[in-house]
Amino acid sequence: MRTIDDFNFRNRKALIRVDFNVPLDENSQITDDTRLRAAIPTIKKIIDEGGAVILMSHLGRPKTGPEEKYSLKHIVADLSEKLGVSVHFANDCIGDEAQEKAKALGNGEVLLLENVRFYPEETKGDEAFAEKLASLGDIYVNDAFGTAHRAHASTTIAAKFFADKCCGYVMQQELVNAEKVLGEPTRPFTAIMGGAKVSDKILIIDRLLDVADNLIIGGGMSYTFSKAKGGNIGKSLLEADKMDLTKELEAKAKAKGVNLILPVDTVIADDFDKDANKKTVPAGQIPDDWQGLDIGPETIKLFSETIKNSKTILWNGPMGVFEFPAFAVGTEAIAKSLVSATEKGAFSLIGGGDSASAINNLGYGDKVSYVSTGGGALLEYMEGKVLPGVAALEE
Ligand code: AMP
Repeated sequence: MRTIDDFNFRNRKALIRVDFNVPLDENSQITDDTRLRAAIPTIKKIIDEGGAVILMSHLGRPKTGPEEKYSLKHIVADLSEKLGVSVHFANDCIGDEAQEKAKALGNGEVLLLENVRFYPEETKGDEAFAEKLASLGDIYVNDAFGTAHRAHASTTIAAKFFADKCCGYVMQQELVNAEKVLGEPTRPFTAIMGGAKVSDKILIIDRLLDVADNLIIGGGMSYTFSKAKGGNIGKSLLEADKMDLTKELEAKAKAKGVNLILPVDTVIADDFDKDANKKTVPAGQIPDDWQGLDIGPETIKLFSETIKNSKTILWNGPMGVFEFPAFAVGTEAIAKSLVSATEKGAFSLIGGGDSASAINNLGYGDKVSYVSTGGGALLEYMEGKVLPGVAALEE
């Protein structure tokens, strides 16, 4: 696959699919600009080289057509400031206004198109709509890793109308970093899986058993493993229909020589509430009316020892209900262990979603090797699926 460094953009109009799906508050103010900041190097490289940039993105989930709160005009001021260039805005992503503004765009200038999801054709991957988008530029750049697992018009279908196409820096970094973990990881390689459900992560756990040296399982999903071994888990999260599967995963780990590490103790609560009464019990010994909401102190020690001795670490999913401060202790401790391991030279990759927010909220975002911007896309990539947005650039 070609990257933007394989092209010179002088006198060219680059149509870039970015991921500007940023959270906005009720006053349409950006509450987390991570995705905007991430896109800057790609845009800058092109305008600095003397090219013009046309940006397309989605924002939120508009239902049937334009919705004021999902208008990308809300981000124009912030984007202009970050780029040091006054960004033009088109009130539509196709049609006369978009055409004219794209045509009039000079080298070094930037045009942001209105939300592509104001057209249902976007998520349907409609060809005619994709062709209209494609007509605005003469080289296609995809830098939206977070939506690369969707075969939408702007993320995938538009690519086929270009002879020149490539990935931007965000996409490139995401793929390079995922490969550092899945390709030839420096050993020992430890994968840490947490979060609510086994069912969401079966495929990735299965794949990780082929490459990891240690597989740590924490969070809500660990109780299904515990129950399958005959433990008492009280009212903890359980996917009863996945109990057999956890046994199969344990058997596979054994056959492959992977060290599968489960919690040895758990912090339990008498209610699913931030102020619930809590205590610590050994794993598999949870009283009937209680539920496990975090890993316990012995588990923290056990997991941290393994993490600190690792050279490659992948983390996806919190160790407990980290939204409640009283049950965020395990997740925070694991984040700290990752930081220590990274300081000692390990490569640490945080798979998007909740573990990324946990790391960022703790202020550790720049103390680990890489925090992925693409939750679902990264998981699908790690499951071994071909991402349509990536495949479209390779054709
Ligand atoms: P996921 O999206 O699968 O990574 O799951 C993240 C969610 O799992 C978070 O909202 C956590 O609150 C939740 N979670 C983690 N551990 C537990 C647990 N022991 N019981 C209930 N929910 C949990």
